[in-house]
Amino acid sequence: RGEPERAEAAVRALVSRLHGRLTRPDHPEYDAARRVYNAQHDRHPALIVQAADTADVTATLEAARSTGLALAVRGGGHSVAGYGTCDDGLVLDLGDLNDCRVDPEARTLRAGGGATWADLNRAAAAFGLATPGGIVSTTGIAGLTLGGGLGYLNRRFGLACDNLIAADVVTADGECLTCREDAHAELFWALRGGGGNFGVVTAFEYRLHEVPDILGGPTFYPLDGEVIRRYRERICEAPEALGALLVITPGPPLPFLPEAWHGRPMAAVLSCWSGPEQDDARIGEWLADLGEIQGQALRRMPYPTINTLFDELLPPGLHHYWKGCFSGPPTDEAIAVHLDFGARLPSAETATLLFPLDGASGRVEAGATAFAYRDAGFATALGPSWSDPADSERNIAWGRDYYRALRPYTDGGGYVNFMADDDGHRVADNYRQHYDRLARLKARVDPGNLFRLNHNIPPVDR
Ligand code: FAD
Repeated sequence: RGEPERAEAAVRALVSRLHGRLTRPDHPEYDAARRVYNAQHDRHPALIVQAADTADVTATLEAARSTGLALAVRGGGHSVAGYGTCDDGLVLDLGDLNDCRVDPEARTLRAGGGATWADLNRAAAAFGLATPGGIVSTTGIAGLTLGGGLGYLNRRFGLACDNLIAADVVTADGECLTCREDAHAELFWALRGGGGNFGVVTAFEYRLHEVPDILGGPTFYPLDGEVIRRYRERICEAPEALGALLVITPGPPLPFLPEAWHGRPMAAVLSCWSGPEQDDARIGEWLADLGEIQGQALRRMPYPTINTLFDELLPPGLHHYWKGCFSGPPTDEAIAVHLDFGARLPSAETATLLFPLDGASGRVEAGATAFAYRDAGFATALGPSWSDPADSERNIAWGRDYYRALRPYTDGGGYVNFMADDDGHRVADNYRQHYDRLARLKARVDPGNLFRLNHNIPPVDR
């Protein structure tokens, strides 16, 4: 039989085994099924599998191997680089595997590989518990955790991947493994930072922490070097229960900010105080000490609520092109670059974010996980985001020029989850001392590079 007949037979075999759905271009749901969060990646896969269980995952991997179609694995679909989709290939969408179950005695949570942070936070909060996640609730737990996982609770409890205690993985050849510190330890090491290179994770198990209501929300200041300098100097001395990201973004048209600031470049601190309520006033003073507050929406709220604050500002369908870098505390030269590019933000949704990496995330031993920048002070995201495709060129040029200007003041690599699709040449720098070890493991578990639509670590057998 020829190639097309073989491929068609493989697809028929897949259809006969699936519990979930298979969608092709002639299906009325195809457009909805193919769409991903970042509108920059308007791709047309040949087949989309919406898996209902692990058996669907193994069947889909078998079909990918026998058809030779490119395989895109999708968790929450937020990949800035668009790796949750592809043209003419096979998409494995895990979105229906989103069940989250808490063991309150053990303080652990088991979540399906397609869950979002909204799903997870909600399940954990019912027991007064939480684990570090991202700052937008619609992001998938999968991509975020596999890349490291930056958010509000890092200073207190470490990265998302530091709180991973087990993962159920389907490997490229269809083997189902449960990985933990004492089982398939090398693979478990790689999953904590190495991205989607090593297999399909059908379930994640996390350690949970007691997180009652928090004091959180944004505080806006004029965009001014002094605010950034004070933030740089004070954040690392602040109690670790204070998560506080520095943001440069246009003032949003929200009622707590005077109209004169709407659309003007501003500095903001997004804070999440998970310490005792009696210290709330102290946190208010800490924020007031950073600069002249122009608007603030700080209040007590359940932890899951802080993860939804920016959902409406960042709906699916916007265009995104991000760059990432690691560095120590921003030098005065780096601050000058931030002020320069911050003064000419290309769109209303654009933001530069500085995530501090000190505290619990910085104390994890350098070799303990594949996340390679434990010694960096900050992870920076340069994040052009815009709504009109006609503005793409301008936004992308701004992002590239900004990164080029900031590059001399960075540590070389950047956080994989903030990388664009043209950053493939930076992957080795992103993994630094861990890169060779990851490439050798890749040669063992995925020698044919089936999982290549990601920030790819090609197999190297040496
Ligand atoms: P997807 O597009 O589904 O997948 C991303 C990558 O992971 C792909 O390579 C994919 O193949 C792989 N993958 C997905 N699911 C699986 C699986 N189950 N098993 C194996 N591989 C899989 N990052 C942070 O650290 N902190 C933040 O606060 C944060 N905020 C963000 C906010 C927005 C609005 C966006 C767009 C991104 C944000 N990110 C953040 C970056 C985010 O971590 C990455 O985009 C991440 O890859 C998204 O994961 P996903 O599962 O939603 O994406």
